[in-house]
Amino acid sequence: MGANPYPLGLRLAGHRVLMVGGGAVATRRVPALLDAGALVEVVSPELTPALRAQVDAGRVRWTPRTFEPADVDGAWLVQVAVDDPIAAEAVSAAALDRRVFCVRADDRIAATAWTPAVVRHGAVTVAVLGGGDPHRAVTVRDAIRDRLADGTLPAGRGSLSSDSVSPDSVAEGAGPNRAQRSRPTAGRVVLVGSGPGDPELITVKGRRLLAEADVVVADRLVPGLLLDELRPDVELVDASKIPYGPSRAQEEINRILVDRALAGAFVVRLKGGDPYVFGRGGEEALACAAAGVPVTVVPGVTSSIAAPALAGIPVTHRGVAHEFTVVSGHLPPDDPASLVDWPALARLRGTLVVLMGLKNLPAIAATLQAHGRPPTTPTALVQEGTTTAQRSLRATLGTIADAAHTARIRPPAVVIIGNVVTTLPTTTST
Ligand code: SAH
Repeated sequence: MGANPYPLGLRLAGHRVLMVGGGAVATRRVPALLDAGALVEVVSPELTPALRAQVDAGRVRWTPRTFEPADVDGAWLVQVAVDDPIAAEAVSAAALDRRVFCVRADDRIAATAWTPAVVRHGAVTVAVLGGGDPHRAVTVRDAIRDRLADGTLPAGRGSLSSDSVSPDSVAEGAGPNRAQRSRPTAGRVVLVGSGPGDPELITVKGRRLLAEADVVVADRLVPGLLLDELRPDVELVDASKIPYGPSRAQEEINRILVDRALAGAFVVRLKGGDPYVFGRGGEEALACAAAGVPVTVVPGVTSSIAAPALAGIPVTHRGVAHEFTVVSGHLPPDDPASLVDWPALARLRGTLVVLMGLKNLPAIAATLQAHGRPPTTPTALVQEGTTTAQRSLRATLGTIADAAHTARIRPPAVVIIGNVVTTLPTTTST
């Protein structure tokens, strides 16, 4: 041994790969093979439930018996994932006979191919071999992954980012976008959910795109620490500082998104929680589409679920609530412009989560009680949920408005109404 391995990226689409073994190692390795488009065939008397699900879904072929040398015929690559060294050796020997590369989970010395520690970042794949020491490979891989994620390694800024206008583009089908789509380097907009407050609650994809952005247009509610990580050359537009009233300000934001993208920039519109949960993300998507700017969305963890969760409140619970409803309380219940059917909500027995409801909380609580929701219904408020400043308060529907006033609860806060509020012991809250 001793010779250095020769690194390769195998393009396995449509090619047969033999996996011998159906246990934990095979379960871990099959997804990357499927991702590469390989035709995966597992030979093993037994399968883990996860592998069986892949077989049932038609993604993997299964031969339910022990290995026979002829199984290697026609395979481009063999992976051995069995514990028994004698059985593993038989697979190795059959592969060697047929000049098929063979990865052995049990014996790196006997293997003719090694699987690297891998990190995928958009279109870029980094594969690390540790010279026979898998721990070293993983350590180096993790360091690279961190630098890719925070943008200090600029891997995503090439012209072929895998995220360039995915088929689920909101602008799909609109005329002018066809031309844009054939030029992956052209400007575009991604609406990214930043999560509810804790900077670690952004999605992996959202964080990657943020690190690749030329322009970031951020809301008031996005975690400040995420903005702290931006490269110095990124243009940061603070959407909460735009003057004018709410509707003019929204027009102005739409204009900035469209203008920057038409000028060729990759624009990330960073929005608190999920972009489409009371975030006006739909209006921005429409404005981009109307201007022929490709636009996609990266969902986020919404405060309507996460803030209750971190206050120890599951929005559903077996035997307690089989539904949860998220409503906006920004208009009083008797406002003719309100689209919320409060009397209908009062008749529901499940969980009601009210966003933007602090100002109108007295009227909301009164209306729900007037239409039949019992005043004893457990009710909670969570202010600045998931952040280090989180505060929560438990009361009942009859007492919540006064309790909120006394405790000086401030926005942003969610109101949670329903028996789930008292389901878990309060020690589960942070
Ligand atoms: N798109 C966001 C919601 C935007 S509406 C999301 O999916 O979370 C703004 C309202 O969301 C606030 O008035 C408040 O009711 C709620 N909210 C947002 N962040 C919050 C947080 N960290 N804690 C509690 N409520 C929050």
